[in-house]
Amino acid sequence: MLHAITRLAHPGATIAMSRFAADHPEYITGTKTGPWRMQLPLGGFDVRQDGAALLVEASGVNPIGLSYMKLIFVDHIREYLAEEVELHWDGDGQSHGIPPFFRETRVTASRRLTPSMQRVTLTVPDLQDLPLDELHVRLLLPPADRPANLPPVWPMLTASGALSFPGGADALLVRVYTIRHVDLARGEVEIDFVLHPTAETSAARWAATCRPGDVAGLLGPGGGAIPQAPRLLLLGDETALPAIARILEATSPGTRCEAIIEVNGPEDEQPLAGPVEWLHRSGAAPGTTRLLAEALGKRHPSDDLYVWAGCEFDAFRDIRRHVRSIWKLPRDRHMVAAYWRRGVAGEMAEEPHHSSAA
Ligand SMILES: Cc1cc2nc3c(=O)[nH]c(=O)nc-3n(C[C@H](O)[C@H](O)[C@H](O)COP(=O)(O)OP(=O)(O)OC[C@H]3O[C@@H](n4cnc5c(N)ncnc54)[C@H](O)[C@@H]3O)c2cc1C
Repeated sequence: MLHAITRLAHPGATIAMSRFAADHPEYITGTKTGPWRMQLPLGGFDVRQDGAALLVEASGVNPIGLSYMKLIFVDHIREYLAEEVELHWDGDGQSHGIPPFFRETRVTASRRLTPSMQRVTLTVPDLQDLPLDELHVRLLLPPADRPANLPPVWPMLTASGALSFPGGADALLVRVYTIRHVDLARGEVEIDFVLHPTAETSAARWAATCRPGDVAGLLGPGGGAIPQAPRLLLLGDETALPAIARILEATSPGTRCEAIIEVNGPEDEQPLAGPVEWLHRSGAAPGTTRLLAEALGKRHPSDDLYVWAGCEFDAFRDIRRHVRSIWKLPRDRHMVAAYWRRGVAGEMAEEPHHSSAA
């Protein structure tokens, strides 16, 4: 296990940490004034008050795990403090430079899977060193008009453990995607892109037009653990189809698993490793139906149920309300996420995830 320590002296630090903990009871334990502990498969951190400051000890099972823990802490504490505080970490692991979970990848193949889905294969150096149980990556696309002789500028770790992204002419298009398939022997991953109509520069457009040899950056995988429970109910539109497909492939034989997936029509269905109820929009614009919420309303909760969902923002709100307010499933028995938001480009799909409680 690797360790690193930092001390955060800031008048709002305790309140910020207690709000961070209150918003994530599924990961963080502790009282309102600490100490707090977060434990994830790749590492964790312990936080306690030290006079007017917070003492933070991050640990990781390897350099990637430790780097993730520093990043999770600094990103969240900055968000809750609404201030770019700087941290200094002592101990193991690097605190600046190329993140250990970054890879520069190249396209090796691209093919149309269904009318609305493009599968892109990327070759990833040292793939075996990445946490491949995690589902999601941040895809980094260099500016489309960048001259071929000008290499992309990739994000770097700062001394605080945060990520610093290039701006101006070097700015990257950053989007979250799911690793659909890993081929360790070939050192390749596959990502399935929904080909939604878009007038601007977008990852969907890149996927539709990319050629072998094209360069893309990957941060991760990280976040999006495969849920474990005796009974799983998985819901999503086509953006979550790759994640649902991977979850179905990873579930143990005893798991009772049911998936409900919204696509445009039968032509966009895919053979998956478990039972699926396919819902058809039949020409309605993506993100405008209530098909997923209505299908959920026909199911019933049970004590051993875990609900996993990924979809457009309005559907996400409907599903989360149903699961939390009507079914009253505790936080550790569901994961409902907005994967995209109608009319909003980029990573802004989710509501700010912290509560307004002081
Ligand atoms: C954890 C996570 C995992 C994800 N995994 C996948 C995945 O494996 N495959 C995948 O295709 N997507 C996935 N997504 C969703 C994807 O990140 C978004 O759809 C993203 O907005 C696509 O980026 P873009 O550059 O193509 O479009 P943007 O530039 O972000 O958006 C341009 C316009 O297109 C709209 N738009 C975005 N997505 C869609 C859509 N699916 N249908 C219709 N309109 C849309 C936006 O509202 C906006 O108006 C995932 C999202 C998250 C949070």
